[in-house]
Amino acid sequence: MTDRILLRKGTVITAAAEGEVLPETDILIEDGKIAAIGRDLAAADAEIVDLTGRIVLPGFVDTHRHTWQSVVRDIASDWSLTEYLAGLHTGISKYYRPEDTYAGNYLGALEALDSGITTLVDWSHNLATPEHADAAIAALKDSGMRAVFAHGGGNKQWGAPLPSPNNHPEDARRIREQYFSDNTGLVTMAMALRGPQFTLPEVNRHDFALANDLDLRITVHVGDGYWGKSGPIYKLRDDGLLSDRITYVHCDTLADEELDIIAASGGSASVAPDVEMQMGHGTPATGRLLQHGIRPTFSIDVCSSNGGDMFGTMRTAIGMQRWADNAPAVETGEVIERIGLTCAEVVRFATIDGANAAGLGEVTGSIEVGKDADIVALDDRSLAITPMNNPFGAVVYAAHPGLVRDVWVAGNRVKRDGALVGVDYDRIKQLAVTARDHVMGEMPGASLGGEWHPDLG
Ligand SMILES: [Zn+2]
Repeated sequence: MTDRILLRKGTVITAAAEGEVLPETDILIEDGKIAAIGRDLAAADAEIVDLTGRIVLPGFVDTHRHTWQSVVRDIASDWSLTEYLAGLHTGISKYYRPEDTYAGNYLGALEALDSGITTLVDWSHNLATPEHADAAIAALKDSGMRAVFAHGGGNKQWGAPLPSPNNHPEDARRIREQYFSDNTGLVTMAMALRGPQFTLPEVNRHDFALANDLDLRITVHVGDGYWGKSGPIYKLRDDGLLSDRITYVHCDTLADEELDIIAASGGSASVAPDVEMQMGHGTPATGRLLQHGIRPTFSIDVCSSNGGDMFGTMRTAIGMQRWADNAPAVETGEVIERIGLTCAEVVRFATIDGANAAGLGEVTGSIEVGKDADIVALDDRSLAITPMNNPFGAVVYAAHPGLVRDVWVAGNRVKRDGALVGVDYDRIKQLAVTARDHVMGEMPGASLGGEWHPDLG
């Protein structure tokens, strides 16, 4: 039997082209894929979902999140980068058991899904043992979302000394073989590498060779803060390691020429505006990326500091970029007639451009015939978006996770009328609190409530 769903009369943001909105438009889903888009589609045997008056858009794509940190949500909201590195990155991280990793990933994935993020690049860099990796993957699979498990090593790789003399763990080979021997299914694999800023040159070359050997895409942090001025892109170029299968996270302090090199190589970029401004990474690169011909994408980065939804991230990014674009005129008195960056473009960064960066642009990121049905429908009952005068403005500036009423992933309705389907909220909360209590309890000096600042010794 064919599984057919007809989404009726939505206000459809396709994200296929800048500014494209299809009013009162139907979407026919067959076997998880978008089979037709148009007015008054006929599908007598389909399940009908009336979306009249509601904004419908592609699911968001988060191109970089350290999902394991979800259980220590907000403990680092007032921390500097130095405190984050000491308190969490090489501190609390040590106390994670596999079940804590599971809890973090399961909570974080469902939180993302609940807020309309249907694709998540899980930048998993606290994998102390193979069992931690198994747990992280199991949680992503259990969540029902589309995810890329980006294997990032653990404390042996990320702890002192830096730059690290320790190679990326060989367990990545087992993971590839055991879970991801083909590239099908909702959860696929990539390599989250430390790159030239965090490794010795021979280690970096080893790690990139391992990723190539496993035929996997790479995601790597570059251009964050003062460290980021060390020329990481030049080093990759000189070692012949550039390719169009690399996502460069942050990019704030890369030189203009390095951005040109990324553009020429076909690489992609991920901007995490909240964390970058909190932790002194530099000015979020949204505008500079565009100037150099690179489409920005967005990432949440760490829920230990900031919220886990794309609405807040879009708002931070566009606000910051508009400030930067307007700032010179404040000094010179020049009259700016049009703002350069539009809400419509920002929605594309958060959807189709993110999908391309995740290597999934053929599958998701826009509402187009032939793609998987990864679709979000917002509630129309909110006064915050009433009356509906500008769908892009509403999505970027007024919407929030509470307005995400329905979500489909590959045609599977994972959120219905405001509640995740088949999810035991009490169990998630218990898993999260148990994990949180364990890792915080083990960490010397740690406390809840927002007062704790790590001892920097
Ligand atoms: Zn990161």
